[in-house]
Amino acid sequence: MKDSYGRKIEYVRISVTDRCNLRCIYCMPEHGVTWRPREEMLTYEEIVRLTGILAAMGVKKVRLTGGEPLVRPKLHRLVGALKAVPGIDQVMLTTNGLLLKEMLPKLMEAGLDGVNISLDTTDADQYAFLTRSSPKTLQTVLEAVDAALSYPQLTVKINCMPMRGINEENLRDLADKAKDRPLAVRFIEMMPLGQGCGFEPVPEDEVKQKLGISGTMSEKTGESAGGPCVYYRPEGFRGKIGFISAVSHKFCSGCNRVRLTGEGFLKTCLQSSAGVDLKAILRGGQSPEEVDIKLKSAIEAAIAKKPKEHHFGAKETEETAETRKMFQIGG
Ligand code: SAM
Ligand code: SF4
Repeated sequence: MKDSYGRKIEYVRISVTDRCNLRCIYCMPEHGVTWRPREEMLTYEEIVRLTGILAAMGVKKVRLTGGEPLVRPKLHRLVGALKAVPGIDQVMLTTNGLLLKEMLPKLMEAGLDGVNISLDTTDADQYAFLTRSSPKTLQTVLEAVDAALSYPQLTVKINCMPMRGINEENLRDLADKAKDRPLAVRFIEMMPLGQGCGFEPVPEDEVKQKLGISGTMSEKTGESAGGPCVYYRPEGFRGKIGFISAVSHKFCSGCNRVRLTGEGFLKTCLQSSAGVDLKAILRGGQSPEEVDIKLKSAIEAAIAKKPKEHHFGAKETEETAETRKMFQIGG
């Protein structure tokens, strides 16, 4: 399935919930968040059905996200069902890691291929500040990283957002987590969306400088397959360091993804409100055959109109700018 700019769409990020067991300061307000009623969220059966249609149209890779995906009960069942969808090669998860260690055996049995764990710092007090939790919480996440690495078949990545005046002096310590282990530590540029607007990102070049990553000291291992991350392997490292800078190093021309929100809206660009309400079609009361035909043509029409690129910060696009928050989209 290609969009009107010739980009092949092979990847869907599915948000399974807007709820979360943390309150990261750059993602969620501390108070006053109203959750979508459960009946408005897609059921696992609906998610699997939509994934089946997307897979038949060329999607191969699924990432489950949220809110915190592991707060949704029995997520391993969804992982197993998605792995069984013909055409789906990889099912992965993005999580804050709090519930990961206890859930891993079931997730692995269901066939999970990869896990991205969000961790912005190795300093317990900083972690508590960023996530509005207790300093003890960091240890739970570090144990989840170790537990994930104990499965050699699982791809394990840490995602960190460097923020000016907050975690910028801790980045080297975080990168060192990849020194002796087959782990990717990725530095992701904060995007000016929702709560994230209140934070200043640390530019990629500055982070590289702090980590001592330069042409002479590191082997550039190239771009990830079909993804926006550029990886480096610093000298002596077993793991690797990656950079994803959506705003300063725009990669829209190679974008291969769409997003499905928890309430069933297919988003064709992170920053734009463009897309289509698939839940309305799914629950439209027609025969399953008619629904399948309508879903397919609605998806085709939405992908044909996938925006060429994001316009973070550009005033002229305010009309189409996304108003959903990051915890409602899934990152
Ligand atoms: N709760 C899970 C987690 O934290 O990994 C999954 C959902 S969370 C919204 C997905 C990712 O979005 C996290 O890695 C988080 O750091 C990132 N994120 C949140 N706000 C962001 C922003 N403004 N710009 C870029 N990434 C952001
Ligand atoms: Fe929750 Fe993830 Fe948002 Fe943090 S970034 S509040 S863990 S959804």
